[in-house]
Amino acid sequence: MSDKRFEITVLDHLCKGCGLCVAFCEQGKLYIRAKPNRRGVQTVAVRAEADCTGCLQCATICPDGAVQVTRIEVWSTPPGSSAKGRSAGVEEPAGT
Ligand code: SF4
Ligand code: SF4
Repeated sequence: MSDKRFEITVLDHLCKGCGLCVAFCEQGKLYIRAKPNRRGVQTVAVRAEADCTGCLQCATICPDGAVQVTRIEVWSTPPGSSAKGRSAGVEEPAGT
């Protein structure tokens, strides 16, 4: 048995703050920051408390490839064991 979860990463240096990903996320997982970054862009941030279904709408719609969706699979383990695994899921971050 495994429990699938999704982690969203927004690459701040690629985000131009167009808001497309925010508009397409039905879970309200993404929002535009109130404060601009060093480039003067109000980039996207991720709400930790909101659920992500892994639908990939945000990553698909972003014209700049600034959103990464990573599937994290946590396997059930026998009592006393703490093994955790990452599957070859939707997208694995570079270097893992
Ligand atoms: S769609 Fe891409 S560029 Fe536009 S706000 Fe979202 S992450 Fe930034
Ligand atoms: S994968 Fe889907 S649910 Fe998750 S943040 Fe992107 S649009 Fe929202």
